[in-house]
Amino acid sequence: MSATLSAVPDVHIRETECFIDGKWVPAVSGKTFATINPATEKEIAQIAEGDREDVDAAAKAARHAFDTGPWSKMDARDRGRLIYQLADRMENEIDDLARLETLDNGKPLKDSRNVDLPLAIDCLRYYAGYADKIHGSTIPIRGNHLCYTRREPIGVAGQIIPWNFPILMAAWKWGPALAAGCTIVMKPAEQTPLTCLRMAQLAKEVGIPDGVINVVPGFGPTAGAAVVKHPLIDKIAFTGEHRTAQIITRESADTLKRLTFELGGKSPNVIFADADLDAAAMGAYIGLFLNQGQCCCAGSRVFVEKKQHDAFLEKLQRLAENRKVGDPFAEDTEQGPQVDQAQFDKIMSYIDKGRHEGAKCVTGGERVGDKGYFVEPTIFDNVQDDMSIATDEIFGPVLSVLTFDDKEDMIHRANNTFYGLAAAVWTRDISVAHEFAARVRAGTVWVNCYDVFDAAAPFGGFKMSGYGRELGEEGLKAYTESKTVTIAL
Ligand code: ADP
Repeated sequence: MSATLSAVPDVHIRETECFIDGKWVPAVSGKTFATINPATEKEIAQIAEGDREDVDAAAKAARHAFDTGPWSKMDARDRGRLIYQLADRMENEIDDLARLETLDNGKPLKDSRNVDLPLAIDCLRYYAGYADKIHGSTIPIRGNHLCYTRREPIGVAGQIIPWNFPILMAAWKWGPALAAGCTIVMKPAEQTPLTCLRMAQLAKEVGIPDGVINVVPGFGPTAGAAVVKHPLIDKIAFTGEHRTAQIITRESADTLKRLTFELGGKSPNVIFADADLDAAAMGAYIGLFLNQGQCCCAGSRVFVEKKQHDAFLEKLQRLAENRKVGDPFAEDTEQGPQVDQAQFDKIMSYIDKGRHEGAKCVTGGERVGDKGYFVEPTIFDNVQDDMSIATDEIFGPVLSVLTFDDKEDMIHRANNTFYGLAAAVWTRDISVAHEFAARVRAGTVWVNCYDVFDAAAPFGGFKMSGYGRELGEEGLKAYTESKTVTIAL
């Protein structure tokens, strides 16, 4: 494995300022911060560092566009058509957007181009089709009354997203908000602001009215916190760490904002002895190593039934050892760098802890090269439930293998975590599959597959992995209020 980098291809960086009320403006403070290429550790561009005053301007613009502007009053079908047009514009520019995403985030170009961008575009199209299908119901109540409900947009949505799937997270948040008729103040992650800013420009070009989408780049405790506290913002949709969600919960208490959270996980991926072992090994490999292991739903606890442990591990290890780590712009690269120094340091410290706690590192465990935040695909075997590599979200290419020989005990152990985002089971026994799906406390359960996402299928967490759901009809409803109207006849 090597991390030799070819020259970074020509990627055009156009948008680096705050996007407020349809205009590109510097931060009021004049401050900027660097966004870094994680493959080279070099600065890509200086970005406007938004803070309280910039968020205030964005919130006022979004409020105005919602209360008096054309958006919430627009015919729903026309609103849908504009969302379709944004999706089309992104599709026309798919190669440029993919390169921008790879430059800023470090994920392999073939993933940006063939996974993230198509999913983002599909999500916008899915919700575009919903814009004119949001309706309430008529309710038979006592007496001579007509009673019905209306589903109305929640208002101004504050949206705070992470760096692991920048453009996809923006689409997951914009799609339902726009379809519902909400306006938006988005704060992208400080590590990866570029594609979200580009999307804002494309939204402007297709004619989404000024003030409907506002983007304020900056840091969490400043710009993010200002979004959370702003009295003109009605809702926060947040994706990130549960600790940040706890801060947001506290800081949004004064304004009692509606909250939806999609947080971390320590998802169990369970392989029974009767499973198709090749498929299960591939599922465990993809389920953890996809996106450099930087997935909230990563299958980071792989439980394998004891009698197939050796055969399974051999297959999994072979896959990990053949994984091509390196230049994210190279066609054959499967794994790029981690997003930044902080994530790299955190992952390396967990690898150290795993070794010290007595787990066996069967492959990987080292940095790749000496420039860029590249980490070898790493597998720990002989992992015990209480080791920190089995309890903590590492958010990197570090997979823990645990064994079981009793189903009841395994289900108990799979659930023995404060997270509950995702889970998977590999078996040919349909009863076992259904039983596991029913008993595991997680928002998504995959059976004989992993990481199958669709804009129509709700996604979110039990327990400390989140509140509410994104995607599907539930994701849309999270951007609406229900109003009951009763008329005396
Ligand atoms: P990660 O470890 O994935 O960066 P975070 O929860 O720290 O997870 O970050 C996710 C997003 O939340 C980023 O956009 C970040 O800037 C933002 N953020 C971090 N801290 C706060 C905060 N106190 N208030 C609001 N947003 C925050």
